[in-house]
Amino acid sequence: MAQTEVLIVGAGPSGLVLALCLHRLGVAVRIVDAASGPGTTSRALVVQARTLELYRTLGLDRQVLDAGHPILALNLWAEGEHRARVELGALGGGLTPHPFVHVYPQDRHEAMLVERLREAGIEVERNCTLLGFEEHGGEVLARLRRASGETETCGALWLVGCDGARSVVRHLIDAGFPGGTYRRCSTWPTSRATARP
Ligand SMILES: Cc1cc2nc3c(=O)[nH]c(=O)nc-3n(C[C@H](O)[C@H](O)[C@H](O)COP(=O)(O)OP(=O)(O)OC[C@H]3O[C@@H](n4cnc5c(N)ncnc54)[C@H](O)[C@@H]3O)c2cc1C
Repeated sequence: MAQTEVLIVGAGPSGLVLALCLHRLGVAVRIVDAASGPGTTSRALVVQARTLELYRTLGLDRQVLDAGHPILALNLWAEGEHRARVELGALGGGLTPHPFVHVYPQDRHEAMLVERLREAGIEVERNCTLLGFEEHGGEVLARLRRASGETETCGALWLVGCDGARSVVRHLIDAGFPGGTYRRCSTWPTSRATARP
């Protein structure tokens, strides 16, 4: 008998939002993370329009919009001099209800998601590391280790790997990690040839 319907491994933004989505759909979830607490560095700064659209369906958009702020322009400085100003304007105007670049640092963002999960009665299980798993009789049996060294087996109908760039889940199913973060922009000189996709 499965102990939960979905076991989510990793409580970064992917795992946290998935847990909120599944809870809203009435699916029982358990979410574990190897780290002792949520991220404390900002990392991703901007919340994209598509994310805000998804958040609208989850009732999270207002909180993110109120807590962050839109960026209207970029000012570029070099060697103490103001060199350029790039007006961002209404990016995605006519395509999205959120046609702007919205800054909301990842650490605050994650803390907000953790709090919303807590309100829904779901606590992220910290210091809980996925060691491995196997499929058995229509369910997944996942081996988890606590900080104390104690291990347990969690039965779940589904296991979702939200465990980041060095995903153990991806490694165990031999899924690979094709693609990259940066791409070349052929019209730019080599020294400036990287750009966010
Ligand atoms: C220094 C830095 C700067 C960045 N800057 C930007 C930026 O400016 N803009 C941008 O868009 N993105 C940026 N990123 C990328 C962004 O942070 C990631 O895209 C985002 O965190 C991915 O979210 P995620 O939930 O998929 O994975 P992660 O945030 O990596 O979360 C994975 C979670 O899984 C847990 N975990 C891993 N293995 C296990 C296991 N075996 N068992 C249990 N738990 C496990 C980890 O503890 C972690 O909490 C940056 C990343 C870094 C590191």
